[in-house]
Amino acid sequence: MTIRIEDIDVEVERKMIRGMRLAVYPPDGRVRMSVPFYISEREVQDFLVQKWQWICRSREKVLARPRNKSREYVSGEQHLFFGKRYTLQVESVSSGTHEVAIEGDQIILRCRPQTTAERREAILYEWYRAQLHLVLEQMVNEWLVRIGEAPVEWSTRRMKSEWGSCIARKRKLLFNLELARVPRECVEYVVVHELTHLAVQNHGPAFKALMTERLPDWKERRKQLRLL
Ligand SMILES: [Zn+2]
Repeated sequence: MTIRIEDIDVEVERKMIRGMRLAVYPPDGRVRMSVPFYISEREVQDFLVQKWQWICRSREKVLARPRNKSREYVSGEQHLFFGKRYTLQVESVSSGTHEVAIEGDQIILRCRPQTTAERREAILYEWYRAQLHLVLEQMVNEWLVRIGEAPVEWSTRRMKSEWGSCIARKRKLLFNLELARVPRECVEYVVVHELTHLAVQNHGPAFKALMTERLPDWKERRKQLRLL
């Protein structure tokens, strides 16, 4: 049975259990509920209403996570670069160092034939890092000037659970390396989001108001980021 509340579907399954169980699953924020046979539909509804805030908050958290697909880094695989889809082409070179280049709608990865998948991944991500740094360098500096903030320190790292973070006290920003895969508008949303944490450390009304002042369409950009 599926119960739809607002725009969220809750899958309800009857089971031989005691008590009701509710869970929100990654990557798409699916809501599932296990219910004992003796509980009425009315009670299920009441329970969902009671837990509604928790459901919404959990979905926000799950949907805000970057998705990690397993990849093998072989020819023919699809890879994103700033929101555009490219086909990976792995080419063997017998000598010299590895390199990555964009040619038309392909990302060419040139490496020695014995290069492992793990190493191919590392080579691609080194290249992603260099490209992302070029974009962030310009974007962060532009936004610092625009919002009148003093310089910050920033770095990039592959992260599983967030696109970025900010330690306001130390003026340190950290960005997820996976941002090299998303459209630039979304990278900009993350940059402005983290820079705004220098002024407001939570996600309350003051934070949202400042985001709207700085980047009026930030909600659209966040939505786009969540759909990736
Ligand atoms: Zn935040």
